[in-house]
Amino acid sequence: MGRPILTLGDRVFIEELRCLKCGHSHAPTKGLYICKRCGGKLDIRYDYEAISEKIGKKELAKRPRGVWKYFELLPLTSRKNIVTLGEGGTPLLEAKNLARKFKLKHLLLKDETRNPTGSFKDRPMSVGVSKAVEFGARAVVSASSGNAAIALSAYAAKAGIRCYTFVPVGASASKLAQLLMHGARVVRAPARGKGDPTYKLMREAWQRFGWHPIPSAGAFNPYQPEGSKTISYEICEQLRWEVPDWVVVPVGAGTLLSGNAKGYLEFERLDLIKGMPRLAAIQAEGCAPLTKAFKEDTPPHEIPTWPNPKTVAGGLVDPYPWDADTALPAIKRSGGTTEAVSDAEILQAQKMLARLEGVFAEPSGAAGLAGLRKLLDAGTVDSSDVIVVEVTGGGLKDVKIAMQLAEKPSVIEPELEQLKRLLR
Ligand SMILES: *Cc1c(COP(=O)(O)O)cnc(C)c1O
Repeated sequence: MGRPILTLGDRVFIEELRCLKCGHSHAPTKGLYICKRCGGKLDIRYDYEAISEKIGKKELAKRPRGVWKYFELLPLTSRKNIVTLGEGGTPLLEAKNLARKFKLKHLLLKDETRNPTGSFKDRPMSVGVSKAVEFGARAVVSASSGNAAIALSAYAAKAGIRCYTFVPVGASASKLAQLLMHGARVVRAPARGKGDPTYKLMREAWQRFGWHPIPSAGAFNPYQPEGSKTISYEICEQLRWEVPDWVVVPVGAGTLLSGNAKGYLEFERLDLIKGMPRLAAIQAEGCAPLTKAFKEDTPPHEIPTWPNPKTVAGGLVDPYPWDADTALPAIKRSGGTTEAVSDAEILQAQKMLARLEGVFAEPSGAAGLAGLRKLLDAGTVDSSDVIVVEVTGGGLKDVKIAMQLAEKPSVIEPELEQLKRLLR
């Protein structure tokens, strides 16, 4: 087992990068993204004993909030490589109006819409780009037109490196605008028969041009779940080291959920909390391969690609859940479950979040609340449970959908009589 590397200034706590497929242990060397032996997914392991000497509850309470307050638990060798836009440190909002409506005792919203580019993806991308900078990257590449690519493009802009992204088909106009504004080079590569052409191009560009691959899936970039685990750290701290009964998570590739699970396991290992919450993975009915695999007990590597995905929740469209191999065991281990929700249920949840709690989510970001409603109806979640719903992305990302949901404004002459008539 590799000993932690000591550099001048910062103490580094990474022990090894372990392949989750063949078990091979790698030292944290430059440019490492997948297992050198078998191409499998890597898991970053730390020296938790040494970390627990460095950080405890008191020390954490002293640090300013945000992803990088957990530096010792993140995979960087030097603080000087941090690329930050102020991600993380998001509020855990007490959702009293929604709780009253659903007759719940304790409902909380982890409001990830507050991140710099409007989604939780800023956490993993801050970590991913910082690591690429540490590796000496000149360019980064992604295979997405959604929040992951947007976050990547913003952090690449901040770092002063180029950003390329391969996209399969059209994205929402507002998301594409956000992506292009940050200067990303967007290349369309439509599917022709088998396989995902965007991932193929991304891999080849890494091999041939040396563009560092930073899609949001841990299967291609092991630094991604490391960013997402900080959501769990924050929830524990915000609940004063109590662990909630349930955490409800919208799921596409399963990276966010895998990262969340790792966060609780690590804090438990550091003796900061006891146990972990039950994790509820929520998918859209129009693309629910992970939910189906959970219900049917399909082994992760045998999950078939979802045919013709279709849903308003664009952030959850991952026909093949790349991180199912870590997400499925995590859901089981936590005693959690999965659920799929319809577009109508998602849009209703989006409206409720906005009207009852003042939180404007995009459909993918509201899917968690839609899932919670179903789990309450089924009796899976109890009304006395402490429940955290992760609201993962903001509504300004897809204004077109919101405009379809909202009523049209009324027009009158500027006369009080007309206003009276209108209000009657
Ligand atoms: C990416 C994304 C998700 C799902 O995350 P995965 O890691 O792909 O499971 C959920 N909500 C929003 C808003 C997203 O952008």
